[in-house]
Amino acid sequence: MDENCLFCKIIAGKIPSKKVYEDDKVFVFEDISPKAPTHVLIIPKRHVVGLKEATPEDAEILGYCQLIAAKIGREHGIEDGYRTVYNVGPRSGQSVFHLHLHLLGGRDMTWPPG
Ligand code: 5GP
Ligand code: ZN
Repeated sequence: MDENCLFCKIIAGKIPSKKVYEDDKVFVFEDISPKAPTHVLIIPKRHVVGLKEATPEDAEILGYCQLIAAKIGREHGIEDGYRTVYNVGPRSGQSVFHLHLHLLGGRDMTWPPG
């Protein structure tokens, strides 16, 4: 746990969140500022800064986060169209530096994303 990390504090329950799913590897909760009817964040319990900081050791958790997104997509009835997104770096809008996979769905999506 990184004492200064917002998402580590959420995992530890020190900051409240609306939990959607949890297991030994990941924590999933509703985004506080949803950009779609379903907008959840899938985060590894282990503090990883972001995709560009990930190492080969993180390969399994990166794949696992995607599989959890697919499971939640099924359970939320949004399989007619959803996105999984990593924002990477300041120009992408990344604002929290604990790896988080966005799952957005429940509305029409435009392409390319802004
Ligand atoms: P990023 O912009 O880094 O890709 O995504 C960070 C996300 O975290 C944003 O969509 C933002 O709304 C969400 N977020 C930031 N602070 C909190 C918080 O305290 N609680 C929850 N549930 N979401 C947060
Ligand atoms: Zn963290």
